[in-house]
Amino acid sequence: MVPRLGEEEAQAAAEAVRSGWVAQGPRVARFEEEFAASVGARHGVAVSSCTTALHLALVLLEIGPGDEVVVPSFSFIATANAVRYVGATPVFADVDLATGNVTVATVDAVRTPRTRAVVAVHQGGVPFDVAALRDAAGRWSVSLVEDAACAAGSTAYGRPVGAGSTISAWSFHPRKLLTTGEGGMVTVDDPQWAARLRRLREHGMNVSAADRHASTQPVLESYLETAFNYRMTDIQAAVGLVQLGRLADLVAQRRALAARYHDLLADVDGLTPVRDPEYGETNYQSFWVRLDREYATGRDEVLAELAAAGVSARRGIMAAHLEPAYADVTPAPLPVTERLTRDSLILPLHHALTEADQDLVVDVLRKLAR
Ligand SMILES: *Cc1c(COP(=O)(O)O)cnc(C)c1O
Repeated sequence: MVPRLGEEEAQAAAEAVRSGWVAQGPRVARFEEEFAASVGARHGVAVSSCTTALHLALVLLEIGPGDEVVVPSFSFIATANAVRYVGATPVFADVDLATGNVTVATVDAVRTPRTRAVVAVHQGGVPFDVAALRDAAGRWSVSLVEDAACAAGSTAYGRPVGAGSTISAWSFHPRKLLTTGEGGMVTVDDPQWAARLRRLREHGMNVSAADRHASTQPVLESYLETAFNYRMTDIQAAVGLVQLGRLADLVAQRRALAARYHDLLADVDGLTPVRDPEYGETNYQSFWVRLDREYATGRDEVLAELAAAGVSARRGIMAAHLEPAYADVTPAPLPVTERLTRDSLILPLHHALTEADQDLVVDVLRKLAR
């Protein structure tokens, strides 16, 4: 079994503390380089979360009041919230039933002349069709921000998600595969964008605190614009570097567990588990199953029965437009989003899951199918 967080992470964090350099410093710089390389991007800018990564991406693109940004409602709510942070209007697009992701057609259906950007999510680790959406964004002259919060270790068209993206946002929250406690990253290929992002995360300073400390000469910094404190600490980055070394094994283990679920669930009628799309591979961060009409039991009852059997499954992915925070928004119809959020659930899939645990889950689902 691959430890999720082990002695190596504890040691690395302790070393950062003992070194005396606990704020953003050399370990953050190394983590940025190694993470960016692992996802096929030229530059990584570490930040405090994926939420702040998304915020900085939209600030960088100079999106603001009067602009519309197309986002899926079928996502963690931070995707839509980031649009509101810059004063722009989130416009919800529906998703594909199989992948849970926006498509060229669902975005095109809600696009207007005021659309400046699309924030597309690689939901639960399932890559969206990067070739189709990147191409469409170019034709429409809108920016494509990739919310890759869940997608470290996923691939599309034979490359890591993140490779060939203009701007991607990543999360290292403990609910994701690779964790630093809290934390995030923005990856880009453009060096000028990377430089501006570094400034935006650190109060708009023209020289980082780390560079100032490293210099033997007095360095007088200057503040070029009103910005933020969205930095990651060196303690977090130390943990992240160890976690990055475990990522490939973790993904392989999850994919093996997912394949076993697929085999066991193959003969359960009315239930459709998430799978790889034809153009890529998911890291199976979320192993969700959709209950279709032929399935005999409603989703909430299935969750209750699983809980009674000692299995902690979770409801499926949320839909932001159904939350009170978005009660003032009247989106275009989102039938697939509403169906998926109502009729899907996330099965347990984690580093400590045993075959016996999986068998129990499947026994309950088989019994409730009829
Ligand atoms: C988890 C998640 C986020 C937020 O990540 P944080 O690092 O917790 O801010 C954003 N978008 C999606 C799709 C997520 O799953």
